[in-house]
Amino acid sequence: MKSPAMVEALERLSMIQFGRSRAQCFADLTCIACGGAAKQFRNDTSKVEYSLSAMCQRCQDETFESTPEEQQEFSEFVGDVTLVRGGQGRSDDDVAADGCAVGCILLACALGWAVLALLWWAVF
Ligand SMILES: [Zn+2]
Repeated sequence: MKSPAMVEALERLSMIQFGRSRAQCFADLTCIACGGAAKQFRNDTSKVEYSLSAMCQRCQDETFESTPEEQQEFSEFVGDVTLVRGGQGRSDDDVAADGCAVGCILLACALGWAVLALLWWAVF
C-alpha cells in the first residue's frame, strides 16, 4: 500500500500529465492515458502494471515496447560496454552476461532517476 503522500503525488502527476484522475480511472476501470476501457489484460503482469500506472493494455504496449531501432541501439550500447569490460580468460557467455547486467542496471538507474525527479517536481 502506498503512503497517502505518495498517492497524492501520483494523483497530481496524473492530472498534470494526462488531465485525468488516477483514482477515478481505478474506480471506473478506465485508462489514464487514452481514457478507454481498461478491463482486459494479456496476463497478470499487465494487470499489476494497471494497478500502478492505470494504463490499458494497448497503452502499456505502446509505452513499454521498443522499436527495432531502439533495440538495435541498445544492443550496440551493451556491446560497447562489454568490449570495455571484457577481460582475458573469460568465456563469451560471461562477457555477454556482464553486458546484459550493466545495461539493465544503467536502464533501471535512468528510469529511477527520471521518476524521482518527476515526483520531486510534483510535490515541491
Ligand atoms: Zn489506454
